[in-house]
Amino acid sequence: MSGCGCAEVATPGLLDLFAVRARLIDAARPVDGSETVPLDEACRRVLAEDLLASLDMPGVDNSAMDGYALSLAELVTEGLPVSLRVPAGAGVMRLPAGGCARIFTGAPVPLGADAVVPQERVCLDAEGRVHVEGELAEGANIRRRGEETRAGALLLPAGTCLDAAAIALLASHGIGQLKVVRRLKVALLSTGDELIEPGMDRVPGQVHDSNRAMLKALLAQAGCQVLDLGVIADDPHALRLTMAEARDEADLVVCSGGVSVGEEDHVRPAIEGLGGIDFHGVAIKPGKPFAFGYLGDDLPAGTPLIALPGNPVASLVGWQLLALPFVQVCQGREAVPLQQFPVMAGFSRRGPRGRRELLRVVLDWTAGAPVARLAGGQGSHMLSAASQAHGYLVVDANKNVEKGHAYTYCPAAQFLV
Ligand code: AMP
Ligand code: MG
Repeated sequence: MSGCGCAEVATPGLLDLFAVRARLIDAARPVDGSETVPLDEACRRVLAEDLLASLDMPGVDNSAMDGYALSLAELVTEGLPVSLRVPAGAGVMRLPAGGCARIFTGAPVPLGADAVVPQERVCLDAEGRVHVEGELAEGANIRRRGEETRAGALLLPAGTCLDAAAIALLASHGIGQLKVVRRLKVALLSTGDELIEPGMDRVPGQVHDSNRAMLKALLAQAGCQVLDLGVIADDPHALRLTMAEARDEADLVVCSGGVSVGEEDHVRPAIEGLGGIDFHGVAIKPGKPFAFGYLGDDLPAGTPLIALPGNPVASLVGWQLLALPFVQVCQGREAVPLQQFPVMAGFSRRGPRGRRELLRVVLDWTAGAPVARLAGGQGSHMLSAASQAHGYLVVDANKNVEKGHAYTYCPAAQFLV
C-alpha cells in the first residue's frame, strides 16, 4: 500500500503492517487431524484431501431447452410427427425412425437424435407435425455427457474452503460426506477490570465487553471452535493461570486488551512468563498494540498467541488484517491475498504521523464511480463507524488525505471469505 515511491517514516519500534502480515503467514502451521462430515455441515470447512469426480458431468447427453429432439438427416419439408415424449427424469430412449421427440430441459436426448430445436423456433401444423424455423446445427442445444467434467478429474483440491457454490458442485456429483480439516480450537479471553458482560447493568466506569462478542462472531465466521475463557481481571496471577489453561487446551490463544505498555497492561509479562514474544507494535492506526507470541519453549513447539488491542476498532482491524490470514493457514488453507484498489477520497483530512491509517469509509456510488466518505467518528473506540463502513481507506504514514485524490481502498467484505 505504500508503493507511491515516497519515503514513509514509521514510529521507531513499530513494525510495518505488511511485513508483520507476511511474518504471521510464514509462522502459521496447519493443524493435524481431519474428520468426516455430512455435506450439509461442510460450509466454511476446509477440504482435507483432493476430491475427485467419480461421475461424468453431465451424466448423459441431455437437452438444454424445452423443445423437440430430432435427427437432422430425417428433417423433411412436410414436417416430423411427434412420436415420443421425454420429460426430465426419464431414462435414455430411442427416437422412432421418421419422428421427433417432445423433450424438456435436462431430459436425456433419445438415441438417434442429434439436435434439439427450442419450442420457440417450431411451428406445429394442423396434423401436429413439427416444422423448424431457421437453421439447426448438429449438436444444437444438447449438453454432452462429460462435457464439463470426466470421472477421475479433480473436482476441488485439498485446502479449499467450502462455500455455497462448492457445496452445490459436490452435491451435483453425488457426494454426501467428505473429509475436512478438524476445526481450529481457539481460546478467547478479554482482559480488563472495567469489563462486564453485555446484558448486565453498567455503573459509571464500567464497559461492556464488546471485543469478546465481536471476536466470537469473527471466529465462528472463520469456522473456528471457540473456547470462551471469559473476562480476566488486570491481575498478573489470574492472567497467567488462564493463559496456562489456554495453552494446554487450544491450538491458538486470542486475547484483547492489556497489551500496551501501561502498568495495568499485564498481557506481555504473562506471555513472557510462559513463553515469548515474537513481535509487538505495528505502525497502524488503529491497531498499534498488537502482539504475537507463543506459550511454550518456542514458537514451533508452543501454542501461538495473538494479543489484540483493547480498543474495539483496533481489535477488529488487527483481526482482519493480521490474525485472520494466520488462522487461515492454521486451518490448512492458503491465506487469502489482500484485495486493494484505488478509490477517490471525497474528503480532506490530516494524516497520521508515523503510522499507516485505516479510515473507516463508505463508498458513495451516486456519481457513477465510487467516492469514499468517512463512515463516522474515527476514534479507535468508536464502533458506530466501523459497523457502517464498507471498507478502509488506507493512508500511508505522514500523508494527508486530499479530496479528489485516489488512495488505496480495502473492502471489508473480503474478510468474510
Ligand atoms: P487496554 O488496551 O486494556 O488499555 O484498553 C484500551 C481501551 O479499550 C480501554 O478504553 C478499554 O476499556 C477498552 N477495552 C479493552 N478491552 C475491551 C473489551 N473487551 N471490550 C470493550 N472495550 C475494551
Ligand atoms: Mg485494559
